[in-house]
Amino acid sequence: MIKIDQLTFAYRKQSALYNQLTLDIQGGSIVGLLGKNGAGKTTLLKLIAGLLQTQDKGSIETLGFKPGCRNPELLRDIFFIPEEFELPSVSMKDFVSAIRGFYPGFDTKKMDRILLDFELDPGRKLNKLSYGQKKKFLIAVTLSCGSKLLILDEPTNGLDIPSKAVFRKVISGALTEDQLVLISTHQVKDIETIIDKVIIVDQGTIILNHSIYDITEKFSFKSVTDPDKYQPLYQEAVPGGYKIVTPRNGEETDLDIEILFNAATKGINFD
Ligand code: ADP
Repeated sequence: MIKIDQLTFAYRKQSALYNQLTLDIQGGSIVGLLGKNGAGKTTLLKLIAGLLQTQDKGSIETLGFKPGCRNPELLRDIFFIPEEFELPSVSMKDFVSAIRGFYPGFDTKKMDRILLDFELDPGRKLNKLSYGQKKKFLIAVTLSCGSKLLILDEPTNGLDIPSKAVFRKVISGALTEDQLVLISTHQVKDIETIIDKVIIVDQGTIILNHSIYDITEKFSFKSVTDPDKYQPLYQEAVPGGYKIVTPRNGEETDLDIEILFNAATKGINFD
């Protein structure tokens, strides 16, 4: 669905942020794009959506199109929620009436259900909503638009704790099999239970790109008091003991995405 080959990208008058980046992402999954602030997540998402133009060094293909050409056939199959956005002073209903013509697969019933889950009244005007409420509205629109590629840049920023739980519930229940959701976040815990795949970027490099299944097949994540006994690949002191990662020997454990992230960004190789 997304094919990036040897792509080099630099902002004007700056050294390359991405150097010969190669990345292949298939549909039918929820992918967590993780990285510290400034790692290059938003830039990568904008390149994929065609909101940034590439500079002829390498190639990028999104759903079979060059995204920078902004072909209308591609645009109706992408929905992008940026981290910062402006919304007009119309009601949620009127906003949806205005945009649904661009999205032939728009499912109004699905949207109404998600708005209900988020406790949002579709009659309310968008400019009267808080930032978190606006974000929830945009998440509802994204999940209902029927596009194949949904891109959510830091979607849980500004959501309160109950809304984060609703976000996880609606996203897990609202997708069709061929959709790809790319979620970027530096709040890694927010998406731990919903992603199928994790990509970690650090200083413009992809340092990890695996399915959750592959990671938990090969590695164990444990809380222990005596880490030396386990010869961990990585350990981190936490109140009451340590969190560790070891090669898996024995039963599968749940992924601890925070420990995975910390270990990967400190150089531990999960290949
Ligand atoms: P992230 O989303 O992981 O926080 P970004 O992709 O926003 O990271 O930024 C990656 C790097 O590119 C940062 O060093 C940032 O300062 C720089 N950057 C982002 N946008 C621009 C821009 N429009 N012009 C110049 N530099 C930028």
